[in-house]
Amino acid sequence: KSFEELGLSRKLLMGLYAMPYTKPSKFQERALPLLINDPPKNMIGQSQSGTGKTATIVLTMLTRLNLGLEAPQAICLAPSRELACQIIDVLQEMGKFTGVTSTLAIRELLVRDAPIYSQVVIGTPGTVCGVIRRKQLSVEAIKILVLDEADEMLDSASLGDQGIRIKRCIPGNPQLVLFSATLPEHVRNFANQFASGANEISL
Ligand code: AMP
Repeated sequence: KSFEELGLSRKLLMGLYAMPYTKPSKFQERALPLLINDPPKNMIGQSQSGTGKTATIVLTMLTRLNLGLEAPQAICLAPSRELACQIIDVLQEMGKFTGVTSTLAIRELLVRDAPIYSQVVIGTPGTVCGVIRRKQLSVEAIKILVLDEADEMLDSASLGDQGIRIKRCIPGNPQLVLFSATLPEHVRNFANQFASGANEISL
């Protein structure tokens, strides 16, 4: 299958081919139809790094956004600032023809109390929790919440708790996506608490 056949927008295809990615990875080919076709599905996905997971997250968020709406619509949580930086770099590169706006929510970068208007917010759970609590980030229009590297996130109990807390703050039924390199029992239990009844894929 090609990226065209997966139904990605022309602006995203331009971003992909400029990278240059020529065709979807196996993981992308399996995950993207469930994530972007209507109705978008919740997902618990197991895949090692190197399988194209970051691009899957980014393509899903960019496809689900209403690019005409200048309000936060997607949140992606990562266990470390380094990973959050990597994801936002890929978002900006793949999304460079879409006009998407994004904010990196890591403690050392955020200006305290300045409202966040970006369409996508990528950060660590503690910082994202803080900006929601201080009403610096409105969750009213959030329609997708992604949690990446869940197994690493659960190395610290508080990060997992913050992830669940963020989910509970979001009104309505946002699309929930959790990825993890491994799914031992405690991660699986957490994943089911985060996104019960989600489609599961593993590679
Ligand atoms: P990840 O699994 O997100 O750590 O990605 C692993 C590597 O594969 C990264 O260097 C990506 O740039 C690259 N990559 C992801 N998807 C594709 C694709 N469809 N075609 C070529 N390279 C890709």
